[in-house]
Amino acid sequence: MNINIQYEPVIGLEVHVQLKTQTKIFCGCRTDFGAPANSQICPVCLGLPGVLPVLNKIALKYAIKVGLALNCSIGELIRFDRKHYYYPDLPKNFQISQYELPVAKNGYLEISGNGNVKKIGIRRAHLEEDAGKLIHTNELTFIDYNRTGIPLLEIVTEPDIFSPEEAYEYLTTLKGIISYLDVSDCDMEKGSLRCDANISLRPKWTKQLGVKTEIKNLNSFKAVRDALTFEIKRQKELLEAEETIEQETRLWDEKKQRTFAMRSKEEAKDYRYFPEPDIPPVIITNQLLDEIRASIPELPKARMERFMREFNLNYADARQLTLEKNIADYAEERLKAYPKKDKKTVANWLIGPLTQEANQRGKNLSEIPVSADALCELIDLVENAKISNLAAKSVLTEMIDTGKNALTIVKEKNLIQISDESTLTKEVEQVLQENPQIILEYKKGKTNSIMFLVGQVMKKTNGKANPKLVQDMLRRRLENA
Ligand code: ADP
Ligand code: MG
Ligand code: ZN
Repeated sequence: MNINIQYEPVIGLEVHVQLKTQTKIFCGCRTDFGAPANSQICPVCLGLPGVLPVLNKIALKYAIKVGLALNCSIGELIRFDRKHYYYPDLPKNFQISQYELPVAKNGYLEISGNGNVKKIGIRRAHLEEDAGKLIHTNELTFIDYNRTGIPLLEIVTEPDIFSPEEAYEYLTTLKGIISYLDVSDCDMEKGSLRCDANISLRPKWTKQLGVKTEIKNLNSFKAVRDALTFEIKRQKELLEAEETIEQETRLWDEKKQRTFAMRSKEEAKDYRYFPEPDIPPVIITNQLLDEIRASIPELPKARMERFMREFNLNYADARQLTLEKNIADYAEERLKAYPKKDKKTVANWLIGPLTQEANQRGKNLSEIPVSADALCELIDLVENAKISNLAAKSVLTEMIDTGKNALTIVKEKNLIQISDESTLTKEVEQVLQENPQIILEYKKGKTNSIMFLVGQVMKKTNGKANPKLVQDMLRRRLENA
């Protein structure tokens, strides 16, 4: 047994991004999601004889946009190729894809774990047409061809990823960039972002790649991470038992949390690639490149750095708030509106209670209807000790549910904090009388026990006392007693 060998996982990811064009890649059919089955089809996407595909210019521009954002070199001449495979979901029995002359190649994407930056090589990004959707029932299989011919951009990394966490980080970062470029919905649930993961193990002392398996059927980034973790363990056990790893495609079973062999992997020669004769090669002019370059907005990394600079946020906060475009827009509007220089409070509200509200409602933060002014007003109420932090959270929930502003809710519910010493004296004295044991503990040096007393006063005042003031009043009495 080779149990003394230390193995290292090597991972390469293939991501298919559905491009958000109104029409398909080689015909004028619409691409609306959820349309009745086979209502968005024509002779071209059905692959009937005698038709001619015409390249969708927008799809090409979107692909170049992503290529540039991933630091790729863009082909001066790009070409489409036929990739043959015999499946019912692609009625032509070949897929128009790109082989030797893809849109983009040799780029990289920077990921960061704990602030360390690492470059993941992008081998290539190429355009291709999506296949139809098979719907299996117990006895029959149905085919919906609406998806056939929707433009896909396949983005393939170098085998530069060395852990499931890095794979997760890569996917999150990639999705963020694509959301900024506004070229895809990036919704894994709708299938507009799909990922296949390739993984092999190698002894730590070599750079030579081991035999890999390819995992499909991954429906979330978490599934990618879990499947890779499982596959590392499976391959390691095989290697340690001196068994061979088959080069094959495996399927992730989410319920059983394991992979199963699906088929042995095709090789390029099995696909019998050859140039697509019906689509002339496309020359990419510098003018087109300049035009697309000018349309690329500030990307997540630059925006994160600006958030750190402009709003004085720390790395973790700035990163979380800039990862996705719509969240960053939402956050920026609110950070800018806050009049004080220290924006940390706003960031805390966005990352904490507001994100929590979004999660509980199954929504994106950017869909939470709390305007910049409304949020500032709520924060002011807390900052000026008018309401407690706890009360503020319930006010926020009510603001979202009813659309009322914070002050109205505070007045209606009588939530104004009691910040007046004389009003609280009675309760403070009572609590001290009722808890001689705690006072003893405090005097013996267990100063934390004061928090228990604060809690008791809060209870007596139905949560309306200003906890800072209560703590202060208690401390003065305890020190002087
Ligand atoms: P295939 O022809 O099987 O699709 P490719 O060479 O096109 O394989 O690579 C597909 C993906 O798998 C790429 O992301 C690549 O980096 C990755 N990859 C290739 N070989 C290995 C390996 N031995 N271990 C892990 N990943 C690999
Ligand atoms: Mg491949
Ligand atoms: Zn069509």
